[in-house]
Amino acid sequence: MNSTTMPSIQVVAPKAGAMEVREAPVPTIKPHEVLIKVRAAAVCGSDLHLFQWDESIRPKLNRASDNFKHGVIAGHEFCGHVVEIGSEVGTIMDDPTVKLKVGDFVSAESHVVCGKCYQCLHGEKHVCVNDKIIGFDRDGAFAQYIALPASCIWKNDPDLPYEIAAIQEPLGNAMHAAAHFSLKDQRVVIFGLGPIGMFSAVIALMHGAKHITAVEVSETRIKLAKEIGVHDVIQGKIARTPEDRAAERARVQNLVREAAGHDGPDVALEMSGHPDAITNAVKSVRRGGKVIAFGLTKDSAYTFDDYSKDVIFNGLTIQGIIGRRIYDTWYKVRDLVRLPEAQEKLRKVITEVLPYTEFKGGMERMLRGETGKIVLQFE
Ligand SMILES: [Zn+2]
Ligand SMILES: [Zn+2]
Repeated sequence: MNSTTMPSIQVVAPKAGAMEVREAPVPTIKPHEVLIKVRAAAVCGSDLHLFQWDESIRPKLNRASDNFKHGVIAGHEFCGHVVEIGSEVGTIMDDPTVKLKVGDFVSAESHVVCGKCYQCLHGEKHVCVNDKIIGFDRDGAFAQYIALPASCIWKNDPDLPYEIAAIQEPLGNAMHAAAHFSLKDQRVVIFGLGPIGMFSAVIALMHGAKHITAVEVSETRIKLAKEIGVHDVIQGKIARTPEDRAAERARVQNLVREAAGHDGPDVALEMSGHPDAITNAVKSVRRGGKVIAFGLTKDSAYTFDDYSKDVIFNGLTIQGIIGRRIYDTWYKVRDLVRLPEAQEKLRKVITEVLPYTEFKGGMERMLRGETGKIVLQFE
């Protein structure tokens, strides 16, 4: 590598498996931007969608890459050190007292928001109508350097371990989901223990939930959940025929209600996006219960089993969660990662730390459900 180019992991063609390590120009910053030398970046489920070139992800990247005239650098969960600051850089973290200097250890909010739309002007930047996502709409963090608007920069405690610093963005997703309703003294059920589900379990435990049940298929993840301290884990079974699926739903709903006691959990966190899990979440919470909807369904459609009874007569609250509240969620994440006990649990969820050149093997293992969170090292 010479000083004007850098290694990066790019999506190089519109087809499955077309992610490669390639040289890219080191980005030059605009006056409101900051240049960061990436220390480590974590692999997200959406990076796996890119890797597989799923239907859901295609339109975004075709646009960003101008129909693949050039590759797009992936990655949006990371930490690194500030190497250059633009001449017009202003406030970071929405806090005028926080100053940024070269050498600072930082992470970033992955949604670059406009600051001008109705939502942005009303304290709802996480649903900005003009948001651009790092690693999709613009070049990402799977690279030696990344340039970003200062408004996205989050300053880390200098002694925060780098692998924890790299996962704060997805941990923020989990925090946004798990802290939307207070979980203190609540009976909680989590459907799906992928990394975000697992992070949610850590948050629920640290936030004083009275009882946590999780529903998951993978043996590896069930074992991990028990190590973290989840009270009851129900192993879901893959059912294919409509009859088998109905029987499996009934079985899981009964077990969830039994585990929580009374007439079911107070709060369900639906992190899997599987239609049967969504139904189980809606049907297993107690009357007046709450459902956090986070997991994306493969097909966009979802049909309620018994909308009038389950939602209306039961007085259910269903809350969709996207991204992180900017920056409320980040401050909550900072409080969490400062706790040694939380760090210890989060480290268990990070099952692999690899050199970036080994990303393909890691992604393949992650696709097979054999890993927790994977962190790639760029230094
Ligand atoms: Zn992500
Ligand atoms: Zn906006």
